[in-house]
Amino acid sequence: MRSVVIVGHGPAGISAAIYLKRSNIDVLVIGKDLGALSGYHDLIENYYGLSEPVSGETLIKNGIKQAIDMGIELLFDDVIALMEIDGGFRIKTKTTFYEAKTVLLATGKVRTGLNITGFAKYRGKGISMCATCDGYFYRNKRVGIVGSGHYMMHELEYLNRISEEVIVFTNGKPLTVEVHQQVIEEPLVAFLGEQKLTHVQTAVKNYPLDGVFLAIGAPSSLEFASQLGVIVDKGSVVVDQNYQTNVSGLFAAGDIIGGKLQISKAVFDGMNVADSIVSYLKSNN
Ligand SMILES: Cc1cc2nc3c(=O)[nH]c(=O)nc-3n(C[C@H](O)[C@H](O)[C@H](O)COP(=O)(O)OP(=O)(O)OC[C@H]3O[C@@H](n4cnc5c(N)ncnc54)[C@H](O)[C@@H]3O)c2cc1C
Repeated sequence: MRSVVIVGHGPAGISAAIYLKRSNIDVLVIGKDLGALSGYHDLIENYYGLSEPVSGETLIKNGIKQAIDMGIELLFDDVIALMEIDGGFRIKTKTTFYEAKTVLLATGKVRTGLNITGFAKYRGKGISMCATCDGYFYRNKRVGIVGSGHYMMHELEYLNRISEEVIVFTNGKPLTVEVHQQVIEEPLVAFLGEQKLTHVQTAVKNYPLDGVFLAIGAPSSLEFASQLGVIVDKGSVVVDQNYQTNVSGLFAAGDIIGGKLQISKAVFDGMNVADSIVSYLKSNN
C-alpha cells in the first residue's frame, strides 16, 4: 500500500507532492487535466517570482514538469471513486485501482452541474449528484442517470443493484462505455415536477422518473466527499487545522476547502497539508 495518493495536479496537489517527496514520502499524483486554469491563456501577474507574466496553462504545466523532474510519480487519469478500506483507501481510476494509507483531495472547485431549466429547483428534490450516497432513497424506483463515460458507469452499476429501472441519458454526447439498458441520446431540455421532480424532458419527449443522478465527466472533490460521508459546508470540504477531513487519513487542500481562490493560497495549503500528512503517517505507523 502506498503512503499517499494525491488527487489533483494543480497548485495545491503539486506543492504538497513536492514537500512530501522532500520528506522522503512515496507519493503518487493523479490528475485529469489542467484544473481551474485549463484553457486559460490570459496572463497570471499576481503570483510571486514571475519575472514576466505567464499564461495560466503554462504555469500549471510548469508545475507538473517540476514534479516529474523531481522524480514524483504522476499520472494523467480520471479518479472516479474513493472507498475506505482496512488501513486506508482504495482509489479507483478509469483504468485501474490504487491503495494508499492517506489521500489528499486537491481537485479544485469545478462541479459538473447542468445549465438546464429546473436543475437548481429540483437539486436535492429528485436530482442527486451522488448515486452511492442517495441511491438508497430510490430503491425499487424508476430513475435516470445523466452521463456518458466511466464515472457514469461506476454510478450506474450501483443503481442497477437497487433501482427497478435505470435509464441512461447521454445529453447529446456519444456513449464511451458499453451499457446494457435503455439509452436516450437526445439532449436534455428541462427537469419538470411540482414539489419534487417527476419528469425529464428531452428534445423529443418527456420521461416520467422518480429521480435523476448526475455523473458527468469525472467527479469533483465534493462528489468524493459525498461518497465517503465527508462534511461539506457551503460547497467547501470542511477540514481541521491539520487539513484533515472528518474521515481519518483523508486530507483536502486548495480551492476545495474554500477561502481565497488563488494560486498562492493553494500553494500555501499544499505546503501545510504535506506536513500534516507526514505527522499522520508517523503516528499511524
Ligand atoms: C479563469 C481563471 C483565472 C484565474 N486567474 C487567477 C490569477 O490570475 N491568479 C491567481 O492567483 N488565481 C487565479 N485563478 C484561481 C486559481 O486558478 C485557483 O485558485 C488554483 O488553480 C487552485 O488550485 P487547486 O490546486 O486547488 O485546484 P485546480 O488548479 O483547479 O486543480 C485541480 C486539479 O484536480 C484535478 N482533478 C479534478 N477532478 C479530478 C478527478 N476526478 N480525477 C483526477 N483529477 C482530478 C484536475 O485535473 C487538476 O489537476 C483563476 C481561476 C480561473 C478559473
